Amino acid sequence: MRLVLVGPPGAGKGTQAEFIADHFAIPKISTGDIFRGNVSGGSDLGKLAKKYMDAGDLVPDEVTVAMVRERLAEDDAKVGFLLDGFPRTIGQAHELDAILNEFDAALDIVLDLEVDNDEVVRRLSGRRLCKRCGHVWHVEFDPPKVPGICDKCGGELYHRDDDYPDTVRHRLDVYVRQTRPLIEFYNGREQLVGMDAHGPVEDVTERAIALLAPFAG
Ligand SMILES: [Zn+2]
Repeated sequence: MRLVLVGPPGAGKGTQAEFIADHFAIPKISTGDIFRGNVSGGSDLGKLAKKYMDAGDLVPDEVTVAMVRERLAEDDAKVGFLLDGFPRTIGQAHELDAILNEFDAALDIVLDLEVDNDEVVRRLSGRRLCKRCGHVWHVEFDPPKVPGICDKCGGELYHRDDDYPDTVRHRLDVYVRQTRPLIEFYNGREQLVGMDAHGPVEDVTERAIALLAPFAG
């Protein structure tokens, strides 16, 4: 199964990506991991990307695409993959087609994890991070025993700037603006499946697996 996972910040995409990839025994390929791997491994592409990042510039599309291409050429991706964070634009979607075409393969499905805005704000704005160990707590869903103090290490908790409600709403606006064209593109090709991603993590995973099963093997 060749799958692309999309969804707004706060949809639980990272967590679901792990569970789904595990269940179908396919590699989870995220652009974040690819970037970190190339940069820390000191590959030519990694060095190139680092030059841009150090200068505070965006890494050009062709560098990102080349990294994704290299990753998809690896043996473990021959049985399929779950892509997270790529493609982000219609241009990148065409690049992905071209890469897969080279490998005589095609994308099977794009799964869109749908969460309404109020729920995203509730999930993200309740997050509190530990200054010392980095653990993420949630004032509503996973509160520490003593408010403001990490159960694990006794460190002080803080509210990340990115997680304040106004910032979350802004991040959502940016996400929708950037991603809507991509979602419409895949919808037009009848490759998009939207799925309700509200509710407990295990329930969402279960729904996703049931929905994706027909596309596996
Ligand atoms: Zn801690």
